[in-house]
Amino acid sequence: MPQINLETAKSGPSCQPGRGVYDYLIVGAGFAGSVIAERLAQGLGRNVLLIDRRPHIAGNAYDHPDEAGVLVHRYGPHIFHTNAQRIVDYLSRFTQWRPYEHRVLAQVDGQLVPIPINLTTLNKLYGLSMTSEQAEVFLAERAEPVATIRTSEDVVVNQIGRTLYEKFFRGYTRKQWGLDPSALDKSVTSRVPTRTNEDDRYFTDTFQMMPRDGYTRLFEQMLDHPRIDLLLDTDFKAVRDEVKFKHVIYCGPIDEYFDFQLGRLPYRSLRFEHQTLEQEHYQPVAVVNYPDPDVPYTRITEYKHLTGQVHPCTSITREFPCDEGDPYYPVPRAENAELYKRYKALAEQTPNVTFLGRLGTYKYYNMDQVVGQALALYRDIEAASSEASVAVGLDAI
Ligand code: FAD
Ligand code: UDP
Repeated sequence: MPQINLETAKSGPSCQPGRGVYDYLIVGAGFAGSVIAERLAQGLGRNVLLIDRRPHIAGNAYDHPDEAGVLVHRYGPHIFHTNAQRIVDYLSRFTQWRPYEHRVLAQVDGQLVPIPINLTTLNKLYGLSMTSEQAEVFLAERAEPVATIRTSEDVVVNQIGRTLYEKFFRGYTRKQWGLDPSALDKSVTSRVPTRTNEDDRYFTDTFQMMPRDGYTRLFEQMLDHPRIDLLLDTDFKAVRDEVKFKHVIYCGPIDEYFDFQLGRLPYRSLRFEHQTLEQEHYQPVAVVNYPDPDVPYTRITEYKHLTGQVHPCTSITREFPCDEGDPYYPVPRAENAELYKRYKALAEQTPNVTFLGRLGTYKYYNMDQVVGQALALYRDIEAASSEASVAVGLDAI
């Protein structure tokens, strides 16, 4: 794996980048911060200082070879999927791709069965050999119609009934979020469909693939630009008064930016337990989910399925959800959306700062959605900048 090779990469707040006044200070070198940095530098010729408090680029998508040389994702499995051709086109400037369709099994009643629930899941679990049509009737007989679907419990119970909900969703969700599904917005479990055919892919998006040489390599290519300075191991607070800049684009938690003055927005965290095993493979697919409440982790990932790497060892990660630690997941529920709205209003009254990304806009976004959000911000900045130059031109007449 290539090491970070950006000439401008520096580490630690004591490093003084030498550009005078930056057009933009961008906080967070994940997808949000890196895409907007690249666009502003390459598209508009802006001078950008990109910082991250972690010792690496790529945010939560960071991957690296572990001690055994197996390419692993430090913050859990990241699979790229999207329906948007323009997002694929944009990212393809920085990487080639490895086709990959994600498949997940769940350990339920002592068996490994496909999740999303599909025809195979139902037949295996109940020892049946139903057709798709029969499976539809099977589920319809068990579904418990909910008049107004508001919560993550409603969505599933309404579709497949309580027994399957408890086997596949209740325990997993309680572990993942520290909340009962009835306390979470319907959008959370709606991410996982139910099928009565044999399609066992986790996603059905048009484009599903992995960056051929890994995410970190993609980010290295994206950020390799003379107008981008990069400071790692550097918190916003350490440079905000040290560096001169005109505007901040902040991709960290919005409540932290405002010193939690309206209260804390809840984020769910994860503890990752990484392990390298001296065997070629550990499990049949990249991810196995464990909805059983007695198992303390939610899932195990084996990276070689994602990356296609051939290696005599294999590396796996168990995910233990927790409250304390890096903020990974905004928690979708009404009261949190309300508090976020108040922070957003505060942000709108604060000059020279724009919030972006999963943490900056408190949205449970996938990678492609964050890339889309950053490209949309760029289009706005570009449009405002051409309006400004037209105005300057008119003034001169
Ligand atoms: P991040 O990647 O979180 O980047 C924000 C960066 O800001 C961080 O590096 C942080 O260190 C830095 N930062 C924050 N505050 C400060 C500060 N004060 N000073 C300096 N730096 C700061 N999406 C998919 O599309 N497919 C998947 O399979 C998938 N799997 C996922 C699995 C897990 C376990 C998790 C947690 C997420 C997954 N995602 C997946 C979502 C994906 O990680 C996010 O959509 C994406 O990383 C968001 O990018 P971002 O730039 O907004 O945030
Ligand atoms: N979920 C579940 N059981 C599963 C898989 C998912 O209950 O086997 C629920 C859980 O609440 C999870 C949500 O569905 O947080 C969305 O799942 P997804 O895989 O999209 O979550 P991700 O880890 O990608 O954020």
